[in-house]
Amino acid sequence: VVVPLPEKALIAKLRRLVSSSRGGKRSPLGAILTGIGDDCAVLNLAKGQDLLVTTDFSLEGIHFRRDWHPPDSVGHRCLARGLSDIAAMGGTPIAVFLSLALPHDLEQSWVNRFFSGLLSLTRKHNVRLAGGDIAESLKGVLGDIVVVGSVPHGKAVLRSGSNPGDKIYVSGELGGSAAAVRKMRAQKRGTKVHVRDYARHFFPEPRVELGQILRETRLTTAMIDTSDGFSTDLAHICEESGVGAEIDSSLIPRARVGKPSREVDLDFSLHGGEDYELLFTAPSAKRIPGRLAGVRITQIGRITRGHGIFVRNAKGPASELHPRGWEHFRS
Ligand SMILES: [Mg+2]
Repeated sequence: VVVPLPEKALIAKLRRLVSSSRGGKRSPLGAILTGIGDDCAVLNLAKGQDLLVTTDFSLEGIHFRRDWHPPDSVGHRCLARGLSDIAAMGGTPIAVFLSLALPHDLEQSWVNRFFSGLLSLTRKHNVRLAGGDIAESLKGVLGDIVVVGSVPHGKAVLRSGSNPGDKIYVSGELGGSAAAVRKMRAQKRGTKVHVRDYARHFFPEPRVELGQILRETRLTTAMIDTSDGFSTDLAHICEESGVGAEIDSSLIPRARVGKPSREVDLDFSLHGGEDYELLFTAPSAKRIPGRLAGVRITQIGRITRGHGIFVRNAKGPASELHPRGWEHFRS
């Protein structure tokens, strides 16, 4: 296969990059015995751990655009999606696998920067790229990432554990990622949306440490990461738990974006996706700190009997919040 670098050369290069960046402590929860270079990776899970596996596409034109996203952002976001899913279970990521198809006319410098974004996030979370596949694509960059993690046996935080009366919390701020997409869509060709003004979109920080703390302290009854958009993700929890919810729209923490920075519209924080925050519920008697793992935690409503999600605001009666999914980058 003649992708930018011939497949063999690219794999050799990646293998060097990965082994030179190994660093950090080995997780006591599981170890990679054999990584890139054999027919399979060999993973050793510690006793008493359950295996977590998540897989996510990153497709050019759907999840990113090469004219909008710098290559290191594409690599970072590709992995962040998977790490965020592990975080939402309260797990610890161990190994990453990437299948990548590249158009033959893609510059090698793009590929290098893609991997530099992806690998620097692996170092930050002490995980290793342990295998994958590379092929030529007929059109566009197509990535599929698999992240493997572990969680103590039976302790994964599911979507299905919410009970009526539980309080609903969200980490960080919502809507920043969608606001960046709207901004880029409105831009004329060739003008730039500055990465640093919309960091949450270009370099989202998966809340892995927060997820682990929430699981360890047994504060949470259900959890999900906000990848599709708050309204859709809360609907997933309600559906899986067989409950409803009531939200106070004035409590929703809205992201600040742009320069000078300003709060995003409520609609972005309610429906915009790809913020990769954690949305979770906890019994009302439990006290949740306003900050955990360096991240702001906000109570925004409570779980109710029955079904449907209702939003209250200062102005009037509650109205039903219908999940409106995440629009991707297709216009
Ligand atoms: Mg998820």
